[in-house]
Amino acid sequence: MKKALTYLGLCSGGRYGKDVEEQLFYYSKQTYHIIRLIICICEFVFIFMTVRRVEGHFNAETGSGYFILYMGMLAVTVLFIGLDILWELKRWKKYSLYRNLGFVYVMFTVIWTCGITLLDRLDGNGLTVYTYMLLMIATLAVLEPWQSFLTFTGAFVIFSAWLPYFPSPVGGGNIFYHRVNSFFIALISITVSIYFNWYRANNYRHQRVIDEQNKELCKANERLNKEIIVDSLTGLYNRRYLAESFHIRFRDYIDRKERKPLTCLMLDIDYFKQYNDTYGHQQGDECLVEISEIMKKSLPMETARIIRYGGEEFVIFIFNCSEEQAFVYAENLRKTVEKSHFLRRDTTQGYLTVSMGVYTEIPDSTDHSEMRGFICKADEALYEAKRAGRNCVKVYK
Ligand code: GH3
Ligand code: MG
Ligand code: MG
Repeated sequence: MKKALTYLGLCSGGRYGKDVEEQLFYYSKQTYHIIRLIICICEFVFIFMTVRRVEGHFNAETGSGYFILYMGMLAVTVLFIGLDILWELKRWKKYSLYRNLGFVYVMFTVIWTCGITLLDRLDGNGLTVYTYMLLMIATLAVLEPWQSFLTFTGAFVIFSAWLPYFPSPVGGGNIFYHRVNSFFIALISITVSIYFNWYRANNYRHQRVIDEQNKELCKANERLNKEIIVDSLTGLYNRRYLAESFHIRFRDYIDRKERKPLTCLMLDIDYFKQYNDTYGHQQGDECLVEISEIMKKSLPMETARIIRYGGEEFVIFIFNCSEEQAFVYAENLRKTVEKSHFLRRDTTQGYLTVSMGVYTEIPDSTDHSEMRGFICKADEALYEAKRAGRNCVKVYK
């Protein structure tokens, strides 16, 4: 039963129950602040008018009745405004207590409304106050369905029970008419109140769902943005990274104006096509992964960016790295690959090797062409290494 009511929004709880309750709390706080302020101003005006009326009601039977009711309403409203201020000062978040206190205020307002309307009847007037007050409460107050039911049924019962004791000077024959009308107003108020509160809770619930989906979307986007610049086989950066993101890092480095050298290193696996032809592409892939791991371990990863440039070609930028230091890194890397036990029977050496080209310079232009220049020169040095018999490191001169 509770599950069904929660689903229909007629009962708090459910997946976002706590969030919905919090939102309703903020909404009802705001609404009550405004309502109470307006009521306070109205009561002041009414009291002023009642007291000032020379041949008016103040001394008459209804006049003192009105006066007592206005004063009562003013006192209770001021008390609740005091509570509101306390709530704000203490930053209390006692949602259900606030809501229950709101219900108490609503009940008082409803009884007060019945009192005013009964006095109006003594003056020969109709159900105006009863109508607008009940509908205002129905549309604005945050009430549980049972509270709505109790509030408006209570209003009808109190009003119709006291009706005979407050006869209209116009004639008492309209009691039935007032009872029927007040019954329908109460009925409409119950419906409106339950509907509006369901609508509000549902709105907040949907908002939470949208917020959550937005968050997931942002996370997925972030993940995608990371994945899109990473090579899926080796986990290294790919060409897209080089084309779209690396230049930012490159530009920042140059903008610092520290004038420190930048190294570009180009690495290519020797006779890799032959290796694939002999051992198959799967084993070739394993080689690529393993060599990528060796690169990650042999290079200073805080300052190095390793990019899988092509099939078995890698471009490595190392910031703040001199030519001598770069040569040491490259030689170390070459030797580690040599010793990594990728045996092969298809070459005279009997094991897998790599060739490298190194180019170092202090860059001074943030242009794309400057970055391309680094790669071109490292590539030339790599070809030099290939021509020199492979399994070696050549520095661009
Ligand atoms: P060189 O010593 O002159 O570099 O000779 P090479 O055979 O390594 O050079 P080439 O450029 O002719 O061949 C590169 C080979 O790399 C061709 C292709 O079979 C292989 N390759 C490229 N991408 C991949 C990949 O993702 N996986 C595997 N297993 N092989 C790849
Ligand atoms: Mg090759
Ligand atoms: Mg190649």
